Amino acid sequence: AEAALRRAQTLEAVGQLTAGVAHDFNNLLQAIRSGLYLLSPRVPESSRKVLDASLQAVDRGAKLVRQLMVFSRREALEPRPVDVRALIAGVGELLQKAVGAPVAIETAIDADVAPALVDPTQAELAMLNLAINARDAMPQGGTLTIGARNASLAEPQGAAPAGDYVVLSVSDTGMGMPPEVLERVLEPFFTTKAVGKGTGLGLSMVHGFVTQSGGDLRIESRPGLGTTVSLWLPRAVAAPAPEAEPSAAPAAPDA
Ligand code: ADP
Repeated sequence: AEAALRRAQTLEAVGQLTAGVAHDFNNLLQAIRSGLYLLSPRVPESSRKVLDASLQAVDRGAKLVRQLMVFSRREALEPRPVDVRALIAGVGELLQKAVGAPVAIETAIDADVAPALVDPTQAELAMLNLAINARDAMPQGGTLTIGARNASLAEPQGAAPAGDYVVLSVSDTGMGMPPEVLERVLEPFFTTKAVGKGTGLGLSMVHGFVTQSGGDLRIESRPGLGTTVSLWLPRAVAAPAPEAEPSAAPAAPDA
């Protein structure tokens, strides 16, 4: 499970990198192609074969890059009402395997917690990312607590507009973060972990996901005491669709 989680993180990272690099690479290839065409009238007959081979190579490269761009296209979010209790249960199961013995996993879920309007797969991935960070912050062991509660904002706060939310949180009793780390954690590729251990993309991806979902991410951290990362997700108006009938997404009557 640990390897699978790392792979999921790395795959995401590679996807983002590929999309960025492929785009730049495509521009470079187009520049090379234009250059070769401009040169072609001046190329002596004896060198024509070399030029043609070069143009063909450029075309092959362009085709490859197109395939890469298709492959790395990020899937669009598909928000729907999600039972956060079930979501946390699923995450917890995966975590038991990924988190070592010295870390205890606890849940603190309010009895009346509402469904969230969110892409369930991405939400699960986000929670796993946070939990892996929490685990990594407690090499000596500690307690990882997954929480869920309702909250409302009377006024906009950060990226979150006023409204009703479901707050999912991951708390640890780990090393915490000094201010100079805390202020950089959302930067892509910022990591304090050893090479090969961290990509520095976890929190930036989670942040992107929650803001795209109409919510926000909050981090509270105290060096030596621990960290709580909260995902503020919009509350769903409709009830979550039953697991067995995934297509029965009920439409909100008004609002
Ligand atoms: P990565 O986990 O690959 O380093 P992230 O974007 O998830 O990338 O995290 C960036 C950095 O934020 C981490 O390297 C670490 O320094 C810090 N961090 C994140 N979560 C925690 C946490 N729960 N406790 C302490 N530090 C954390």
